[in-house]
Amino acid sequence: MSEEVTDVQPEAVTPGDGSGDHSKTAEQQAEELAQDNEQGDAFYRAHQAQVAKTFGHVDAEEHVKLILNEPKNEIIVNFPVKLSNGDYKLFTGYRIQHNNIMGPYKGGIRYHHDVTLGEVKALASVMTYKCALLEVPFGGAKGGIRMNRGVYNESEIERITRRFTHDLGNNIGPEYDIPAPDMGTNSQTMVWMMDTYMNMHNQMNKNARRRIVTGKSITSGGSRGREKATGQGVVYCIQEWADEQGFRLDGCEYILQGFGNVGSHAARILSRLGAVLVAVQDHTGSIYNPDGIYPRKLIEHVEDHEGVSGYSGAEEIDDEDFWGVESDICIPAALELQIDEEVAKKLEADLVVEAANGPTTLDAEPILEDRDIEVIPDIMANAGGVVVSYFEWVQNKRSESWQLQEVDSRLHFMMKRAFHEMRSFAREHDVNNRTAALAVAINRLNGVYEERGVFP
Ligand code: NAD
Repeated sequence: MSEEVTDVQPEAVTPGDGSGDHSKTAEQQAEELAQDNEQGDAFYRAHQAQVAKTFGHVDAEEHVKLILNEPKNEIIVNFPVKLSNGDYKLFTGYRIQHNNIMGPYKGGIRYHHDVTLGEVKALASVMTYKCALLEVPFGGAKGGIRMNRGVYNESEIERITRRFTHDLGNNIGPEYDIPAPDMGTNSQTMVWMMDTYMNMHNQMNKNARRRIVTGKSITSGGSRGREKATGQGVVYCIQEWADEQGFRLDGCEYILQGFGNVGSHAARILSRLGAVLVAVQDHTGSIYNPDGIYPRKLIEHVEDHEGVSGYSGAEEIDDEDFWGVESDICIPAALELQIDEEVAKKLEADLVVEAANGPTTLDAEPILEDRDIEVIPDIMANAGGVVVSYFEWVQNKRSESWQLQEVDSRLHFMMKRAFHEMRSFAREHDVNNRTAALAVAINRLNGVYEERGVFP
């Protein structure tokens, strides 16, 4: 049973010391960038290694593998914005377009202080495989601005967003490349992008351009069910897994990292199925209650306090202890590379559901396998967002507005179909779910390249 949610998202504030970007020297920034680039590159390398491993299990042509190894376009823009105190700051924004053989480039925009070229390249590539696995007729892209989201006020964020959209120019377009929200961005960010884009182009056709972005508020042309879609899709995957295993969700326990858009909606929906949230971690700390944490109350707390820390219905625990909390299911819904070797050894769950993109490191994967901890990989688990983004784009194109039940039932059908394709491949080829999900996607992309060939 579905429930309508409002289109107003709690402000997601990413970690920051509150003084951050304003006070750093260029040298300090350069040093940090070098460090973060290593982290972003580590994610890109890990993703490419997973893809390379999967190439061994598919029938794809050599040239298709070569094409998929690198993004088609890498757009980097450096742009100045005047801050409220009169200072100017130069921001670096990225838009990486990985592949568009299946349809227009599609992918979120992230505002976070760790955004790097390597990270965005990895995330763009993940989008290509996600869309192919789900049979969404889009390609893969991702964008972001490297910024400490928490130190800017709303009006600065609006100016940053509008200037970034302006500088992307014709590199995005309703039939070419369609952004969406990701970490640190929300429906308001998308509406600013849409409005800027509309005002930059021919006024006569203004409304046809609403589909330049998805994840908009419902009032500005968004889809019912889009805001909760990723969390909803996570829950559909858990339900499919539970059915297959004969596992009862009612009364089961889970831990959750990240209580933003994806994490909080997943928790709210899981609580309706009787699953008990026993520990949560976000950028403000970790909390634990063996009797259960009420997602709705925690959502209210996070709205008021910008994080889970200080929630009265649970005790604070050390961040290192969070991953070792006994549970049935672990849902990482924050950043990439969170489940490393150490965490993999400590986890006390039977299932990891990757609501975040790339949360498991390459070295952690075999440890999870040895410990019989099953993983539902990111391109499957968090695909609900892009599926409903596609529905939003179709509704905008046809000037339609679908009811929530219709959105949910179409989403359910597509998630279920992809889940079972992944599981069948895994069984037939004796590979894990990640390899299977990537293989289904790569075989599908290869099929299109086979028919169309490579120009000229
Ligand atoms: P969000 O900004 O709404 O929330 C992010 C959450 O992560 C917050 O609770 C934040 O406190 C937490 N977090 C940040 N840094 C942390 C740290 N160091 N340790 C612990 N927690 C930390 O972002 P979101 O939209 O919920 O996205 C979360 C993840 O899901 C990302 O990996 C994103 O790429 C992925 N995803 C999002 C969507 C979507 O529709 N929003 C779709 C697919 C995948």
